[in-house]
Amino acid sequence: MNKSVNIIGAGILGLAFARAFAKKGYSVSVFERTPKASGSSIRNFGMIWPIGQHKDQTLQRALRTREIWKEVCDDAKIWYKESGSLQLLTNPIEISLGQEFYDEEKYARPGLDFLTWRQVESLVPFINKQTVRGALFSPTEMIVEARSAIREIPEYLEKTMGVKFHFNTLIKSVEEGSVTTHLGKKHSADLTILASGYETQLLFPEIFNQAPVTISSLNMLRSYPISDLIPSICGGLSFLHYPSYSVCKTLNEYETYCNSEFPNQIKHGIHLLISQSPLGELTIGDSHDYGNHHDPFQMSSVDQFILDYMNKLLNLEYLGIAQRWTGQYLKMTNGKSEWFEQIDSTTYIANGPGGAGMTLSWGMAEEYVSKL
Ligand SMILES: Cc1cc2nc3c(=O)[nH]c(=O)nc-3n(C[C@H](O)[C@H](O)[C@H](O)COP(=O)(O)OP(=O)(O)OC[C@H]3O[C@@H](n4cnc5c(N)ncnc54)[C@H](O)[C@@H]3O)c2cc1C
Repeated sequence: MNKSVNIIGAGILGLAFARAFAKKGYSVSVFERTPKASGSSIRNFGMIWPIGQHKDQTLQRALRTREIWKEVCDDAKIWYKESGSLQLLTNPIEISLGQEFYDEEKYARPGLDFLTWRQVESLVPFINKQTVRGALFSPTEMIVEARSAIREIPEYLEKTMGVKFHFNTLIKSVEEGSVTTHLGKKHSADLTILASGYETQLLFPEIFNQAPVTISSLNMLRSYPISDLIPSICGGLSFLHYPSYSVCKTLNEYETYCNSEFPNQIKHGIHLLISQSPLGELTIGDSHDYGNHHDPFQMSSVDQFILDYMNKLLNLEYLGIAQRWTGQYLKMTNGKSEWFEQIDSTTYIANGPGGAGMTLSWGMAEEYVSKL
């Protein structure tokens, strides 16, 4: 008989573990409390973002994840775009940070390039020519339309690998060797993987409260469509956000500069990311508010700080905002890139890729399943 696994959560991590176990011949059941995934995995930019991953830590996992995304999307006929990314640089400190990053990383990241503002303008016609001096270009970034892709993948896994999905099914408790649904039905399996995102605190509050994790809450916006097709974009503030940039020597100097130049953006953990949907809409963000409790009141001033920063780099004042939302994810506080922990003889927590779940999950699941 095949070995079996129960997976709680149909976000990207639950899907990634479902695929990895199915490939190893397991009989896989996924339980998702909502009618269709509605957690972090459908609220993000859909960015697969290897440029943010440290070359000695998770870059290879990100590149493997990108490969699997392409394979899954090609097989399941899901839209994706190999957009590449542009980091817009506006002043001498950012230019020298970009140069330091390029010098350190050019061999680990084939295709990494330094563009002049004229080259940037040919890719993004609406750059602010008063401020943008150049950009770092990377070819490895890719986008999916998360809100549809994550909801289409279950059907693909069901059809091609026999994964069984139970939507509208809340797991109320986890026992050694089984899970119990809200209807009191017990499902036994050799293994259980808890990929329940930031809601893990509801099932295992005692473990959650001891774990080196916090919850990040983010403000996000989406514009009406624009006609120009652009690569994915980030700005100088992203130097302060991703582990990959820790190789830059003048990072501390830049942080001091940003504290005085962009106090509101720094206070709310804002850096600029923009991805473009298949319809041409721009997904724009984001801010970061950390803690285990978040008030439900989305601050429009924080949205405005994101847009103010965007307007320093791009001439998009006319842009109409069609949607606003918040998203939450679990973030490690000990510097690790994930939380994978055995909590009894059959149950494992798989969580914590933070702001890089779309970038790391397929690869992470493959690595852990091959060890189990
Ligand atoms: C605004 C935002 C932007 C982001 N942008 C990016 C990006 O562009 N690129 C990137 O790489 N990463 C990004 N991230 C991070 C990424 O989205 C997350 O790391 C990832 O989605 C986490 O996936 P998950 O499967 O752990 O959680 P989730 O997607 O939240 O899935 C957990 C699922 O478990 C279900 N569940 C919980 N408890 C139970 C239960 N008891 N019974 C049944 N089901 C249960 C929930 O309903 C949910 O569907 C972003 C995150 C946010 C919030």
